[in-house]
Amino acid sequence: MKRNIFHSVCICLLTLIICFGCSDQENSRHEVVVIGGGLMGSSAAWQLASSGQEVLLLEKQDSVYKSGSSLGEARIARKSNRGSDMWSYLHTRTVDEVIRLITYLNEDSQGLSYKIEDIYTTSTVSYLGRSHIYDRLMASLIRQDVDYKIASDPVTAVELFDVTIPDSVVIQREYNRHSGTINPQRLIRYLHDGVRKHGSEVAYNAEVSHLRREGDHFLMDLKKQDDAGSLTIAANRIVVAAGPYTAQLLGTLQPKMESLINPQRVFLTFFKINPEIYHSLAEAEQQRLEEGYPVINSSAGTRMGSFFSMIEYYDEDEVPVIKIGGHFQRSPIDDLNKIWSKELTKEEKEWSFNNTFNYLRLLNIQIDPSDLEYSHGYSCVYSLTETEVPVVAPAMSVDGQPDPTMVIMAGMSGVGAKGSLAYGKIASDILLERKEVDSMYQVVRQSIGFDRLK
Ligand SMILES: Cc1cc2nc3c(=O)[nH]c(=O)nc-3n(C[C@H](O)[C@H](O)[C@H](O)COP(=O)(O)OP(=O)(O)OC[C@H]3O[C@@H](n4cnc5c(N)ncnc54)[C@H](O)[C@@H]3O)c2cc1C
Repeated sequence: MKRNIFHSVCICLLTLIICFGCSDQENSRHEVVVIGGGLMGSSAAWQLASSGQEVLLLEKQDSVYKSGSSLGEARIARKSNRGSDMWSYLHTRTVDEVIRLITYLNEDSQGLSYKIEDIYTTSTVSYLGRSHIYDRLMASLIRQDVDYKIASDPVTAVELFDVTIPDSVVIQREYNRHSGTINPQRLIRYLHDGVRKHGSEVAYNAEVSHLRREGDHFLMDLKKQDDAGSLTIAANRIVVAAGPYTAQLLGTLQPKMESLINPQRVFLTFFKINPEIYHSLAEAEQQRLEEGYPVINSSAGTRMGSFFSMIEYYDEDEVPVIKIGGHFQRSPIDDLNKIWSKELTKEEKEWSFNNTFNYLRLLNIQIDPSDLEYSHGYSCVYSLTETEVPVVAPAMSVDGQPDPTMVIMAGMSGVGAKGSLAYGKIASDILLERKEVDSMYQVVRQSIGFDRLK
């Protein structure tokens, strides 16, 4: 309780200093400033603070996260990846870092207890793909040391999972501790608590309206509340992690960024089975439904038919609320500020309904179409690089060299959450000019680093 009051006082004081107090820039010169308190900026700030740095994390929203790529209570977190092993590393490294964060938060927590179960749900992760991926998939499962079961024909699918798949489809299920979903909202809160516990600061309602370099430091104009002008603070080193706004914010400081990082609209739709019908399902059916999520379905044979889906939460009727979206349903954006409130089209709702209903059929859940109810839906945004691999790299100086005083975290697309704390660790290491010797760490750092940016 005491600690909470102390934190609140600190935040108020800091907010006062930032919002009203500093006409003299040198009075507000910081060692490290992180811009953006979503998953990436918060992870970087926590990693920096836990390395002994004094950090100021600036977030334009209030302490309750209401918009941004990290919005929501569930993202798929998984160890298995057909293809590159770097995604597997990013997930397992993040799990380790979350455990480290929680252990730290629970030290002398005076009754407050932080739990890994609040961040990760451990559940089966299902993958559906076309049969021709089988050999490649098996090779990666062995390399990535995943616990799994796999059915590549309809008979085995019934035997193993009691589900119905067509001949041309293979279904794999992953069973690993802390694979299932990760909760971005709660993780952000935990990370902010970790930053503050280390004596660093998180400032909300602190929007950077302009960023520039002056000599050996950076200057940031912060918008005052109620649009009453702005004030300026300085920092020796910065991390820019403003999600879809990153390229815009970097502006002339990194002019090529706007063509490298592309914000895209994605829509999410939520459904639930009519509560009466859901509670009348046999226990085995309810269990099959639960085990069927989260799922990544790329078995349709077209990218447009692919979807991801998961149980976002259980509602007050104890009915699962199922979220569905499609990474290849994304579309370009005209106005980044307005896109968040864009309504879903009839076609988007239909696409979501059909894919959810057909998947429930595949799980042998016997309901009628009218039993599946639309709950809500919204537009969100993530930013993409051309290869869809994120960037965590030092900025580029005018002579084309890496500038380790500014780290950019961008293009996190639909894969950022599960690797968030590993990305944060790499951002922190770049800024502090540190490196780990582990070979996977080096592969990942190279793959998302300066050479790609270049
Ligand atoms: C629909 C969807 C589904 C996804 N599914 C998965 C999944 O299943 N698994 C997975 O691993 N990942 C998934 N992701 C990806 C993951 O959620 C993102 O990669 C991650 O949340 C990106 O975090 P971020 O911090 O980069 O961006 P954001 O969360 O957008 O954070 C940026 C922050 O910066 C703040 N900000 C912006 N401009 C300024 C400014 N000028 N001054 C101060 N603050 C500013 C914003 O308010 C925001 O809080 C999904 C993403 C989406 C959108």
